[in-house]
Amino acid sequence: MSALPRADPCEPPSGSMIVFTDLDGTLLGHHTYAFDAALPALKALQNRGIPLIIATSKTIPEVERLRRRLHNRHPYIVENGAALVIPQGYFSGGTDSESESEYESILLSSPYETLRAKLCQWRADHGFRFEGFGDWDASTISKHTELPLEDARLAGERVGSEPLLWHDSETALAQFRALLEKEGLRLIKGGRFDHVIGETNKARACRKLLKLYHTHQSVTPRVVALGDSPNDLEMLQLADDAVVIRRHDGSYMPYTGDNRVTHTEKIGPAGWNEALQEILGSGVVEIRG
Ligand SMILES: [Mg+2]
Repeated sequence: MSALPRADPCEPPSGSMIVFTDLDGTLLGHHTYAFDAALPALKALQNRGIPLIIATSKTIPEVERLRRRLHNRHPYIVENGAALVIPQGYFSGGTDSESESEYESILLSSPYETLRAKLCQWRADHGFRFEGFGDWDASTISKHTELPLEDARLAGERVGSEPLLWHDSETALAQFRALLEKEGLRLIKGGRFDHVIGETNKARACRKLLKLYHTHQSVTPRVVALGDSPNDLEMLQLADDAVVIRRHDGSYMPYTGDNRVTHTEKIGPAGWNEALQEILGSGVVEIRG
């Protein structure tokens, strides 16, 4: 089991650097979901007080559980940018609470209940054939995701996006997409599922958070972002340093951007460690703006 020393309660950052990271296939191993290979760089970030911001397709309770293992008290981004979650008192200061479940959630998508109501209505009206997490109990989510039952239950606790399996024709899909678009929603292609979400993504949530750092601390930190998939692309493009993590099959997601980019030699969390050690060791910690 991975372990990090417990950090002191995190103050908001000094402003020199901020790190945004994807989880699956990036900080966590593709098959193992372990972050052991990233421990040296995780400790280095912790020692320097550099905020590590998780930006993932996972849900709030899934990330809360991982943050406890990482001893991470920084804000985080869930459901591909559907919400930005900020621990109570993180920017305003003055919280004495030890509770790590107390947070403010800024919703950047439509509320989950609204999404579900629309999807169910369209299915009834047009006869679309699809299934979403909202149609399933935890054991069915577990079957479709191959997650253990408890993890599947947490994956079902959603705030602003719906993963679904499309069982209908391409023609029906085009009709479905048109309905989504009219409502300011869209469909993101994922590995296993398609995700219905509002006009947001990880990058939009990152920008929102960077603005908060700027407002509260008048600093613009150097931004590092790490990811392995197309849903990380915009997040990597907004960074000063983009890190494209090598996938378990040896490939890289195609990347174009005019920022500094590193393609890791190693795979998953080992690549994550390699890239951050390099960036931290370069001594180039500059403050823009
Ligand atoms: Mg990933």
